[in-house]
Amino acid sequence: MKTLKIAIQKSGRLNEKSVELLKNCGLSFDNYKSSLITQVSNFPLEILFLRDDDIPEYVQDGIADIGIVGENGIAETDVDVTYLQRLGFGKCKLKLAVPTHSDIKTVADLNGKSIATSYPVILQKFLDKEGIQSDIKTISGSVEISPGLGLADAIFDIVSTGGTLRSNGLKPFADVMSSEAVLIGRKGIESDALITELMQRIQSVMRAKETKYVVLNVAKSNLDKVLALLPGVKSPSVLPLAEEGWVAVHTVIPETDFWNHINELKSAGAQGIVVMPIEKIIM
Ligand code: ATP
Ligand code: ZN
Repeated sequence: MKTLKIAIQKSGRLNEKSVELLKNCGLSFDNYKSSLITQVSNFPLEILFLRDDDIPEYVQDGIADIGIVGENGIAETDVDVTYLQRLGFGKCKLKLAVPTHSDIKTVADLNGKSIATSYPVILQKFLDKEGIQSDIKTISGSVEISPGLGLADAIFDIVSTGGTLRSNGLKPFADVMSSEAVLIGRKGIESDALITELMQRIQSVMRAKETKYVVLNVAKSNLDKVLALLPGVKSPSVLPLAEEGWVAVHTVIPETDFWNHINELKSAGAQGIVVMPIEKIIM
């Protein structure tokens, strides 16, 4: 039987969540930090641990069949790959930032200025679209110190909380791109049976993450009120309790509006509400 190869980041911001996702898909493997390649013991899959920058090209060239990488990583390398699935982690924004007291207030003010970045391709495309000419200085790390060193007037970098910017006396002034981790594949791989199976597993894990299993008790007289509050559920299970006139309701609700629903359910007469994580939802 043939073996698929998946490339994931060896270490860094995407590594832990990528490993966790594969483990949640029921794949067993050793995650030795020192090895570059590991074999999954219960699925025909090999995992390659690489620098994130290399993953898009490895997938495009077929050295790996699929890979997990940030959307920004794909945009930066301009490769021809197939997007298979958004993965819901590794969310970040790429922003332009300037020193707090800079004269640069708008994107137009960047004309003729210098910008330091590790993402020159994404930045150049953005500037072209805006019709702006700036001097892009490509550096591989610690972009945020370059204005302080007199190396650049502005920076273009990944920002999550903004703490790093602030501690370097910088403020963001324009969002250029939002990114999250995605599963990519080499062209044509989407019709492969093993890929279909792996993606089904990934989707069931992701669906489960977005929902909770809720069990609650309610007096029969309040049952209709409580059921009316349970959204998007085809048909919750209603089971009789030993105590006369009471039932237990079992259902699955979305995590997003979780607290809203719990409080509304309580006011509608629900008691002993138990909320449990779900491991997988197979559709
Ligand atoms: P490598 O050694 O593999 O080249 P790196 O230093 O280039 O790693 P990381 O900082 O680990 O990269 O970031 C990898 C990817 O994770 C980024 O390209 C981006 O998509 C995402 N990412 C970066 N920073 C954050 C953040 N603060 N929060 C969430 N995701 C992030
Ligand atoms: Zn990198």
